Amino acid sequence: MSARIVDGKGMAAALRARVAAEVARLAAEHGVTPGIAVVQVGAEPSSQVYVRSKGKAVSEAGMRAIDRTLPVETSEADLLAVIGGLNADASVHGILVQLPLPKQIDAHNIISAIDPAKDVDGFHPLNVGRLARGLPALAPCTPLGCVMLAKSVHASLEGVEAVVMGRSNIVGKPVMQLLLAENSTVTIAHSRTRDLPGVCRRADLLIAAIGKPELVRGDWIKPGATVIDVGINRVQVDGQPRIVGDVAFEEVAQVAGAITPVPGGVGPMTIACLLLNTLRATCAAHRLPCPAI
Ligand code: NAD
Repeated sequence: MSARIVDGKGMAAALRARVAAEVARLAAEHGVTPGIAVVQVGAEPSSQVYVRSKGKAVSEAGMRAIDRTLPVETSEADLLAVIGGLNADASVHGILVQLPLPKQIDAHNIISAIDPAKDVDGFHPLNVGRLARGLPALAPCTPLGCVMLAKSVHASLEGVEAVVMGRSNIVGKPVMQLLLAENSTVTIAHSRTRDLPGVCRRADLLIAAIGKPELVRGDWIKPGATVIDVGINRVQVDGQPRIVGDVAFEEVAQVAGAITPVPGGVGPMTIACLLLNTLRATCAAHRLPCPAI
């Protein structure tokens, strides 16, 4: 193996510690404690794991977690009423709605009802638009984490040839916007892209966010490239459950210059960036300067 392994877990722990220090300072100097509401409709086992780990990270950072778990049969109108209550509650600085929602609820209507200033997931159309315009915005957490990981390898991303695999609203498109803001040259590849391996081989920075287990092979990689693997895929290996990324790690690590592992790469950074967004939203709500973290 020649690639440097980018330690997302370690970077995330350091970021969480910096956020926690700022949270302690906010409490001591201003009597403010960031509050984040986690809204979940129905208790889907896979979502519950995420909700629990988010709740734990929130309390460890010294923030207040507000759990709003609602029955699976909750109507759209009732969920909108819950969101309205959280929007009006000054002790709530961030609102997270766990996706997917049950089929009787239109996720777009719910996300659009969140106060954009509390939209710590960065999915509200206003934040999406502000990000696209290059204006200050709450940006989605996984893309923020990806760019931080990339910047831990490249002192500057200016002029870097970046290929983003995947064009989802949650990962691919916002990663593209954040990389453009860093002055990278960005190509978006997706399921209809012709000659995907050839497009990937152009990349100095490859971000894979497609949800296809180990699709990206060693011969798709430009020697020395940085590879950020966003994929979380549950597979069976020799009858045992395992989580793998979108990148064939062992093979790609022979060619790449740096690579994020799965698990322990992008995942932990996503949660750390959620805390960072909540801290930023809290500072903005109280008209306090946002700490440079
Ligand atoms: P999505 O299903 O919404 O989008 C997948 C994208 O990949 C689509 O744009 C599609 O065009 C593209 N795609 C699909 N198959 C392809 C192929 N064969 N070749 C090229 N492109 C292809 O998924 P998403 O929500 O963006 O998530 C992508 C992956 O990232 C999933 O594995 C998901 O679990 C993971 N994820 C991880 C985190 C994290 O915190 N680490 C956060 C969000 C998503």
